[in-house]
Formats: sequence, C-alpha cells, structure tokens
Amino acid sequence: MKDRSLLMIPGPIEFEPEVLQALGAPTASHVAPNFIDAFGRCLENMRDVWLAPEGQPFIVAGSGTLAMELAGANLIEPGDRALVVSTGVFGDRYEDLLTRHGADVTVLRAPIGQIVELNAVEEALKSGEYKVLTVTHVDTSTAVRMPLREIGALAQRYGVLSIVDGVCSVAGEEIRQGEWGLDVVLTASQKAIGVPPGLALLVASPRAMEAFASRSTTVRSYYADWDKWLPIMRAYEARKPSYFGTPAVNLVAALDVSLRQILAEGMSERFVRHQRLASAFRAAIEALRMGFVATDPKDRANTLTACRYPDGVVASDLLPAIKKAGVIVAGGLHPEIKTEYFRVGHMGAVRLGDVLATVGAIESGLRHAGYSFEAGIGVATVMKSLADQKV
Ligand code: PMP
Repeated sequence: MKDRSLLMIPGPIEFEPEVLQALGAPTASHVAPNFIDAFGRCLENMRDVWLAPEGQPFIVAGSGTLAMELAGANLIEPGDRALVVSTGVFGDRYEDLLTRHGADVTVLRAPIGQIVELNAVEEALKSGEYKVLTVTHVDTSTAVRMPLREIGALAQRYGVLSIVDGVCSVAGEEIRQGEWGLDVVLTASQKAIGVPPGLALLVASPRAMEAFASRSTTVRSYYADWDKWLPIMRAYEARKPSYFGTPAVNLVAALDVSLRQILAEGMSERFVRHQRLASAFRAAIEALRMGFVATDPKDRANTLTACRYPDGVVASDLLPAIKKAGVIVAGGLHPEIKTEYFRVGHMGAVRLGDVLATVGAIESGLRHAGYSFEAGIGVATVMKSLADQKV
C-alpha cells in the first residue's frame, strides 16, 4: 500500500501543493530581480496577514525560537525587567531566553490547563517596573489560548512593550496587531503560515522600533541584531539588492505563494474557518467522552486541541493505531502531564475532510485500544456540529 498519511500534528503541518512546488523550483540568486520582488511582496503581505499596517516585518532564516530571540535580544538590555506570562512550555522558554539576554524576569505561571488571569497581569504591571511583557498566544504544550486583545490593552495602558509568541496562532487565530496595540507578533513558517520549517517571521510596531532605536547597549546576538536586518528588509521592500546573511531563497519563494493564498482567502474568513473546524473537532472529542487539557471551553485554541486519554487507554496503544489508520497526531509535550494527553493540530490549509479523517482514525485507534463507544459517533458529531453552527 502506498505510504501516504495525513500530518495532523501542531506543526509542521500539511502544505499546499503550490507552496511545495515553489519550494522545489530552481534556486534564484538572492539578488535576482524576481527574488527581490518576491521578498518585497512577502514583507508587504505580512502587514496584511498580521493586520499591522504600520508594522515593520522581518523575515530571517531560522525556526520559531529564533523569532523569539529576535524580539527578546533587540528589546531587552541587561537589567531590564520583563514579565513572562506563561501557560506552558513555550512561556517557560521565554523566561530562559530573556534571562540569557540579561533581563530581570518575573514569571506569572498559570496552573496547567488554565490561562493567567488578566487581573494578575494587571496587578503586576501596576508596579510600573516592567519594560517588556511576553505572552504565548496559544501554548502548544497545553492548547490554552490567552485573551490577546485584553493583554494588548493592558500593555498599552501601563506603557509596557508586548511581545506575542504567535508561533501556534498567527494566520489561524484572530490577531489584529495594529488595532490591539501589540508590539511584536512573531511566528515560524511551519504552522498556520503554511510553509515548511525554516523561517522566523515577525512584525514589530513603531513603538517597538523606537524602543530598539533608543537602546544604549549593543545587541548581544550578532545574527539576531535588527541593526543588521533592518536595512535588508528596507532594501528588499524598496526592490533593491542587499546582503547581510544569505536568505533562505526557496523558503521565501514558498512564503510568497502561501501569503498570497492566505490573503486570497481573507483574514476574517480564515479565522472563522479555523474556529468552525476546531469547534466541530472538539465536539467530536467530547462525544467520544474524552476531556481536554484546557479546562475552560473559552480558553481552548482553534489551531490545535490537547485531548486527554480516556481511562485505561495509553499512548503506546492509541497513537500507533491512529497512525495505522493513516493519520499522524502528536503525543503530550508538557513534562508534568506528558503521558496523559495527545495533541491534534488543525490549522493552515486544514479542511473538513482532514477533520473527518482524523476523527475517524481516532475512533479506529480507540477501538484498537479496547475503549468502547458508539461506532461513528465522533464523525457524526463533526457533521452535526457544523450543521448547527450559526457562523
Ligand atoms: N512557541 C510556540 C508556541 C511553539 O509552538 C513553538 C514550536 N512548537 C515554538 C515557540 C518554537 O518554535 P520552533 O520549534 O520553530 O523553534
């Protein structure tokens, strides 16, 4: 049988054929006119995808962690105070990263499966001590989504720069960077942006760029320094050749295709599609009598779901059986509850057929693991949920 499976992990995801074709095209020179044009268009289109008309986009070869580092290294000077709002593993990663860059870090850590309450964030900001706040929009280890618009408003009210780790949310969950007053929104190519791994992407607000310009110390990282990259981004946008470090030419060509596809769908339509499919998927999981890591329904992400194993079902029985049915899902990630749940990504080019195939494969896996339920109830619930949805 042909070895063909559906990749439903929270990144890398399934990519559109046109994106993969662009990736496989002959590599252009990084100063060829057609490549300069593609790079410039990517920067322009990022403003529309991020909904940040005034923002400064950056495209740098690297993974999402580099995007986190670009924001941290350029906005933190040794001794600056930073507030990390953590809802899982990736929030904790920011604590480590900012500390490495000399920040004095305070962490507000949510109990696993919960958000950090907004009044706790406000209490901390009231002290007036912080320069920077970081928040993980959707923490991929818990599938908990933080209320971002409110965080943006709080950061604005207390004059603190907000850095949003949107690796598991940009181009899937609703984010309106300009309107919500968020200073840096960062992501990586392999998730809802829909391009194979290898690009660190972010958009910085004018306020963030001013804070960067008024630094009194040199950025501690050579490769991440915006002083190196800003002239390059400006040159590409002005359709002029330039060089600091060789760009990931093929990935940028693929990004050009993907951003255009995203904008052709429309941002509002895209947010609604993610919301509809995620809620149908969650309804199926509930119909199969499984729980979620995120305890409050309003905190459950639309880009991935963290599903708790039913009693008596273990990862080593369930996950290989789901794979055998043709779908790859991910195991647990949070070290404290790793063996208690699995994760399903439903972002980017995800369609109804993918959700149905995934729920069907999960049913098949559960049966193999000896769990009893009404056959087909998950798949039927997806269809029923979509029919019942008002949007
Ligand atoms: N933040 C979040 C929310 C993530 O999900 C990930 C990757 N799973 C990262 C940061 C780090 O990205 P990368 O693995 O591309 O370095």
